[in-house]
Amino acid sequence: MQIPPHLLPQDGRFGSGPAKVRPEALDYLVSRSDVLGTSHRKPPVRELVGRVQSMLAELYAMPDGYEVVLGNGGASLVWDMATFSLIEEKSAHGVFGEFSRKFAEASRKAPFLGEPDVDEAPAGSVAVPSAGDADVHAWAHNETSTGVMAPVRRVGEGLTLVDGTSAAGGIEVELADTDLYYFAPQKNFSSDGGLWLAFASPAAVERAERIATGRWIPQMLDFTTAVANSRKQQTLNTPSIATLLLLEAQLRWMLDLGGLAAVADRCRTSSDIVYRWADAHDFATPFVEDPSARSSVVATIDLDASIDAAYVISVLRDNGIVDVDPYRSLGRNQLRIGCYASVEPSDVAALTDCLNYVIERCH
Ligand SMILES: *Cc1c(COP(=O)(O)O)cnc(C)c1O
Repeated sequence: MQIPPHLLPQDGRFGSGPAKVRPEALDYLVSRSDVLGTSHRKPPVRELVGRVQSMLAELYAMPDGYEVVLGNGGASLVWDMATFSLIEEKSAHGVFGEFSRKFAEASRKAPFLGEPDVDEAPAGSVAVPSAGDADVHAWAHNETSTGVMAPVRRVGEGLTLVDGTSAAGGIEVELADTDLYYFAPQKNFSSDGGLWLAFASPAAVERAERIATGRWIPQMLDFTTAVANSRKQQTLNTPSIATLLLLEAQLRWMLDLGGLAAVADRCRTSSDIVYRWADAHDFATPFVEDPSARSSVVATIDLDASIDAAYVISVLRDNGIVDVDPYRSLGRNQLRIGCYASVEPSDVAALTDCLNYVIERCH
């Protein structure tokens, strides 16, 4: 099936991660090719790391005393790092999808920690851990696997660790309500994967320093090592310089756009187009029932059983519209549409026109 060209979006990338990289960021990358292939211990790359740190601090109005820490391994590494470096005796987790579950599992398997408390909600709804005797409370700001957005607030006495991987750069947050707000840059930040970044509170750094004196910690998973390197605008081992350059370009673009509030508005505009489209058609239903929990960056829409979502997705792919598949283990007849910062709202509107065109011809 061929979708008429005038209906197609300018850019067909609507994935939930990795996600669309802006062509302008790639132009910037090429223009800075002098930095690629040079030492990450020398000023040009260290200054690049420093610019990324200071632009992130500006974008988030980072509170005094907090610092931007980074290293290699992506957001997944942070779960293992926090398990070794930040959980003292026991953690508590809000589990409401596959990403929040992975951190809970990492903690549960650690032989040196107690059994974690887990508050679990069925896919499509939200779970924030309840306050108990845990010394770390953890959940995801946005569950990318289901399109559910969670509140961010302090829970309990210990450290509050929030996975912001798909929310960061697209949903506003008060960093003072967290001790570690961490993410990887291949979603709203329109960069490549492999890196992790985090806003760390003084309490998080102090906790890691205390734990490191009494526990064996693999070097890659030692948060204090990451902090020491980040303070020197470096990473423990070689970073992807291209990833840093793409991230730098995106941060500058976000600040020029008006900062985090403006970017969040743009994402909200895009996802509202998707939710309104679903509301207007009997065959489409937002997967997340509670409107306030519907993600403004990842919209999940169930299709009626009479329409084969996999077929719709394959027709879209044949026409250059890619990655609107549901999360693989969710197993639903669903579309999942990344409405990240780089995606043009007009392209989201074009996507809904294409969906109408394909679905009308499916019955
Ligand atoms: C994508 C994603 C991750 C995984 O990121 P990696 O960099 O691939 O490890 C973790 N958490 C959330 C919420 C995500 O969206």
